[in-house]
Amino acid sequence: MTKLQRRVLVDEGAPNCSTAIINGRSSNVLNWDDVRFSWAYPKYKKMLANFWTPFEINMSGDIKQFPMLSKKEQDAFLKIIGLLALLDSIQTDFAGKVADYVTDSSVNAMMIILAQQEVIHNHSYSYVLSSLVSKQQQDEVFEYWRNEPILQKRNAFVTEGYKDFVDEPTIDNFLKAIIFDVILEGLFFYSGFAFFYNLARNQKMVASSTMINYINRDEHLHVGLFEKIYKEVLKENPTYDTEELRAYGMKTFREAAELEIEWGRYIIGNEMEGILLDELEDYIKFMANMRAKQLGFEAPFEGYRNNPLRWIIAYQEVDLGKTDFFEQRSRQYTKTSDANGFDDL
Ligand code: ZN
Ligand code: ZN
Repeated sequence: MTKLQRRVLVDEGAPNCSTAIINGRSSNVLNWDDVRFSWAYPKYKKMLANFWTPFEINMSGDIKQFPMLSKKEQDAFLKIIGLLALLDSIQTDFAGKVADYVTDSSVNAMMIILAQQEVIHNHSYSYVLSSLVSKQQQDEVFEYWRNEPILQKRNAFVTEGYKDFVDEPTIDNFLKAIIFDVILEGLFFYSGFAFFYNLARNQKMVASSTMINYINRDEHLHVGLFEKIYKEVLKENPTYDTEELRAYGMKTFREAAELEIEWGRYIIGNEMEGILLDELEDYIKFMANMRAKQLGFEAPFEGYRNNPLRWIIAYQEVDLGKTDFFEQRSRQYTKTSDANGFDDL
């Protein structure tokens, strides 16, 4: 088991451009015109272009609407927020720990931005709840992860997956932690996202759903970044690219999808207007297949090659920058374009 070396603060004898993504050397000076990976700078620019804060979103419509939601919708709304609050909190910390072991300054920089975005996600949950419910109820929602058995089981799946890397940072544990990361950022939010998009397409809670959409858009980039890191680590350490790891990855995605389906059944149940449970289950299987393939694994579910929630595509294209469906905020932050200087990377 090869241990991961921590990045050093400064290394006078090393080049600015790193020698490897992990266990490499770098002076630790970041010059975006002299970095190891050609994908790093375009990705960095996309992350900056996503910048947003909860303060931009006007909650007044949602404040009026929340009491008019059915009891079932209110419950699901709060439980999903409670779930996301825990996952985004640990994600902030996880990103910092990854940053400690990445020996490439540009990838380290993006990890720091990723962590900042997780802080914003977390903030948005407090922001939404403080607008809609009492302080006491808000505090209760932030405790759900502790008391709801179905949440405990699901969250423990990811936190256990991270723990091995945190306790014993080896290459093997790092690769496995990235699999759990892609599950957290690329699968475990998705029944929650579907719930909010379904509300929005019924003209309900559009401000909250806008925020969820910005989070979805960030997560889309985060998954892409971890996919790149995973592939570079394997490219630089090909002995780790084994059949065993791929089988582990596929099995882990299958288990994760089953947990996500169980959770979706629990929060959405049979009587949620506009979402059919069968469709949601097919959607989760489709997402699990897609994420597994992104990391080079076989699809865990046979079939499920197309997105069965056709209507959700309009919402998800927002994260690809094709459309701004909600048009809830001014776009002044989207300043970073392809025409801003050093684009030869
Ligand atoms: Zn997040
Ligand atoms: Zn994320």
